[in-house]
Amino acid sequence: MSSATRCRLCTREALTRVTYARMWLCQEHYREFIASKVERTIRRYELLRPGERLLVAVSGGKDSAALLHVMAGLRERLGVELVAFHIDLGIGDYSAKSKEAAERLAKGLGIELIVFDLRREIGLGVPELFRRLRRAPCSVCGLVKRYIMNAAAVEIGATLATAHNADDIATYIIKNFLIQEPLALHKMVPKLEGVKDLAAAKVRPLYEVYEREALLYSLSNSLPFVTEECPLAPSRGLDASIKRFLENLEEEHPGFTLSFLRRYVRTAGASASPGVKGGKVAPCRACGLISSEGLCSFCRVTERVLGAPGGSRVRDCIKAQLQRVTR
Ligand code: SF4
Ligand code: ZN
Ligand code: ZN
Repeated sequence: MSSATRCRLCTREALTRVTYARMWLCQEHYREFIASKVERTIRRYELLRPGERLLVAVSGGKDSAALLHVMAGLRERLGVELVAFHIDLGIGDYSAKSKEAAERLAKGLGIELIVFDLRREIGLGVPELFRRLRRAPCSVCGLVKRYIMNAAAVEIGATLATAHNADDIATYIIKNFLIQEPLALHKMVPKLEGVKDLAAAKVRPLYEVYEREALLYSLSNSLPFVTEECPLAPSRGLDASIKRFLENLEEEHPGFTLSFLRRYVRTAGASASPGVKGGKVAPCRACGLISSEGLCSFCRVTERVLGAPGGSRVRDCIKAQLQRVTR
C-alpha cells in the first residue's frame, strides 16, 4: 500500500517536488518557498527601498497574478506601497478576459488597479496598430506596453515591477546572444535604473522564479488569471525553440537556468542604465519621455498611423486617471 509523500518541513501531504532543491513541499510551505525566493531576490539585488511606490504591471496572466500576490504579502516587511496597472490592448475577447482577471485579482487583494484602455484613449487597439504599421504584432504590442507602463510609473514617481520569470529572462538572453544584439543582451538584469522625469526604474522580482512555479503558485492560491493564449502570439518562433531547449536542459540538469542567470548577473551586473539604441538619452520632443533623439519610438509609430505623435495624449490620459492615486 503506498502512502502519500509528505512535506519535508511538516507532516502534511506534499503538493509538489522542487527538483533543484531536492524537496517535497505541501501547499503552505510551497507558497512560503516562492515568497521567500522573491524576497531574497529583492534584497540580494537591492531592487527596492523602504518608502518606495511600486507600480506592478498586471496583464491578467499567471505570472503577474503570482507577482502581485507575493508582493501583497511582502509589502509591509519591505515597506513599499503597491499600485497595480493593467493595459487593455483591445485584442478582442482575450483582452476582455484579461482585464476581468486583473480586476478580480486586485479587488481580492485590496490593491488599487488602474486600467488604461488603449482603444478608448488613442482610438486604435493593437490589432489595428500592427496592421497599419505592417509590423509583427508582438513588436508593436511590446513597444506600446513599454511606453504606457513607463509613462504611468514616471507620472506617480514609482518603480515599475514586471512579471518576467526565469525562463523568459534566460530565453531573452540566449536569443539576444544568438542574434547578436549586444545592447539588449546586457539589459536582462534584475534592475534597470531610472532617469529622472524620463524613465522609471524597472525591476524583475520573479527573476529566479520558473514559469512552472509561477503557474503552480497561482493555481494553489486560486488566483484569477487567463489560461488562453493571446490569438496574436506567434505559433512558432525562435523564443519557443529556445524555451524547449532550456526545458530539456532543466530536465537533465535541475536548476541549470537559475545558475545560468546568477552567472549572467555576475558578468553583466545586477543593474543597468536604461539607454536607448545608439546609447544617447534625451527627452522626446513631443512627449518628454525617454528617447535617443527627436521623437521616441511610440511618438514615431503613432505619428505614422494617427497623423500626429500620440505620446502627449497618452500622458494626459494617464495623468487624469492617476490623480486619485497620488492625492
Ligand atoms: Fe501582445 Fe504578442 Fe503578448 Fe499578444 S502575444 S499580448 S500581441 S506581446
Ligand atoms: Zn509543509
Ligand atoms: Zn514621445
